[in-house]
Amino acid sequence: MKLLALLLVVAAAATTVSATPLPFRAETPLMTRQGAIVRARLPRPGHDLTLDGRPVTLTGDSRFLIGIDRDAGPTAMLSWTTDDGRPARWAVTVAPHGWDIDRLPARLSMPGPPNAEYDARRERELGQVRVARADISPLPFWQVAFVRPAPGRTSTNFGAQRFYGERAAAYHGGMDIAAPGGTPIVAPAPAIVRLATGPFALEGNIVILDHGFGLYSAMMHLSRIDVKPGQILAQGEQLGLVGATGRATGPHLHWGMTWLGVKVDPATLLPETRG
Ligand SMILES: [Zn+2]
Repeated sequence: MKLLALLLVVAAAATTVSATPLPFRAETPLMTRQGAIVRARLPRPGHDLTLDGRPVTLTGDSRFLIGIDRDAGPTAMLSWTTDDGRPARWAVTVAPHGWDIDRLPARLSMPGPPNAEYDARRERELGQVRVARADISPLPFWQVAFVRPAPGRTSTNFGAQRFYGERAAAYHGGMDIAAPGGTPIVAPAPAIVRLATGPFALEGNIVILDHGFGLYSAMMHLSRIDVKPGQILAQGEQLGLVGATGRATGPHLHWGMTWLGVKVDPATLLPETRG
């Protein structure tokens, strides 16, 4: 009888052990920087990936895309369940990035007078942008090597910010490419056109491209739009021309990108400026 009791205890202990598999923890952190777009593959295949609790879409072979906020803290955590049922974690180390900061006297800050008509217009325009970027589509287009959407030097970097005295203006949410008016703008990666309209008050004529998994490009200030919503573009296919519509001091292309609503730096997808 004693032996049987002992066997039962051992069997129960074995069951308990098999029901709680050992967690998996990646040895080296995923290294990135503030504002970056990161494409990676899980070191152990699995499902139900999250970044600090936020769901992240995975491909069938465990590849994924995340975006790091410009002002993100030094660490984040990827968590998922491996295919053999183990809870898994991969630390993300976020290096601080030096942003271009302009300090100007407070007197140069000139907020316009309240204008209900303008506010209503902006609400409508921003609503259209929100709807255009609302879906997390399963398109795999984000996995290619991106190309510059127009030739020309980068005149203003992502993240640049002006301070008027102590007051911080909104930071620059994309990269500006200086190019003469009429320069063709091409799709930096394959995409579906989600918005092609304008001119909006600030963005001018705008085209929003869906690259899949929550990653979107927005091309702004166009003098001409050559595409329609729903159209699928190959990489390098023309979508419009550089212009100065909306709030722009001269012709240039503003290329903004977002991942699940987080503004991210397009330059981190281009080979010459990666990192
Ligand atoms: Zn810009």
